Amino acid sequence: QERSEEVNATPYLDLRGIGKRFGAFTALDGVDLSIRRGEFVCFLGPSGCGKTTLLRIIAGLEQQTAGTLTQAGRDISVLPPAERDYGIVFQSYALFPNLTIAANVAYGLVNRRQPKAQVAARVEALLQLVGLPGSGGKYPAQMSGGQQQRVALARALATSPGLLLLDEPLSALDAIVRVRLRNEIRALQRQLGVTTIMVTHDQEEALSVADRIVVMNQGVIEQVGTPMQIYREPASAFVADFVGKATRLQAVAEPDRWFRAGSLRLQCPQANGAEFRPGAPVSLYLRPEDRVMDRVGADHPGACRGTVQRVEFVGSNCLAEVEVEGLPGQPVQLQFSLNQMDEFGVREGAALQFALRTDRLRVFPA
Ligand code: ATP
Repeated sequence: QERSEEVNATPYLDLRGIGKRFGAFTALDGVDLSIRRGEFVCFLGPSGCGKTTLLRIIAGLEQQTAGTLTQAGRDISVLPPAERDYGIVFQSYALFPNLTIAANVAYGLVNRRQPKAQVAARVEALLQLVGLPGSGGKYPAQMSGGQQQRVALARALATSPGLLLLDEPLSALDAIVRVRLRNEIRALQRQLGVTTIMVTHDQEEALSVADRIVVMNQGVIEQVGTPMQIYREPASAFVADFVGKATRLQAVAEPDRWFRAGSLRLQCPQANGAEFRPGAPVSLYLRPEDRVMDRVGADHPGACRGTVQRVEFVGSNCLAEVEVEGLPGQPVQLQFSLNQMDEFGVREGAALQFALRTDRLRVFPA
């Protein structure tokens, strides 16, 4: 028992102090990251944060200028791509246009000189796996973008690699295909148990498929956590801003974890564990769902009165922008279901009484 836990605790992929410079520009700076066998990890961050560079270093397509990598206990730091154990899917489908789908999928297998009949059977099994049975005779140009990306996925999985690397594989697809394919990739990944890293700049994509998300910013990791941790407990103002919707309130720290925003005084008993000297400027982050409507008297913690300025529909919910008394120029975004809109009379110009969930507020230096 103890032994197997020990084995499981050994990371499948381990990155230590990975750095990458392009001339004088530092694209990655001291990245440490451990990924467990079978995990689905997303690298998430804005354009230019270094997520693609990090993926390419793991693939050996780019050489790090500092640090080491181990995969399944093997030091792969200086191994050329062909000697590493991974399959990769790029944003552009990158299929060979003059080869059939079957030949595209078989590409890595033929290189390994397997018997023809065995290759053909394996190719058909892979095409079935990605939902394209019997289409081996077609050419890439005869397929839609989503289908081509399934073929690219089948090709990446052909050699049963230990690691699947996905570099923004869905970003060229339209919204509906994109959501369908991401769910299929997730289901396939679970079924095969293959350790997977997907690069994306789409937070919704990362939140919906990842076991853990690595949020990157300007060449460093800001936070590593489950989707719930990243959303509920952002570790920095950057993460709170980048993932999910949030209202940021400018405030000033007072003793005993009280904060003053405008003339509103809020006590945040947790304040994400941070200590601030009185007078320090801070930012308070509030998610739109973190509000209380029922039985909110003036003495309720976080009690506010406000006027709805604007209502925006977002699918089955709405976001109301509320100008709060004592908080001029810092409107708060609150979320309501359509039923709650009726119940609480949420519409433009309506007066609302509510409380901010001060237990959920995150506080960061301004
Ligand atoms: P995107 O989503 O736009 O692809 P990214 O987070 O994947 O962004 P990278 O492609 O990893 O970002 O690039 C990180 C930084 O390194 C960027 O500022 C980029 O301009 C720079 N960079 C990447 N490759 C090179 C290169 N070959 N030469 C010089 N600079 C580079």
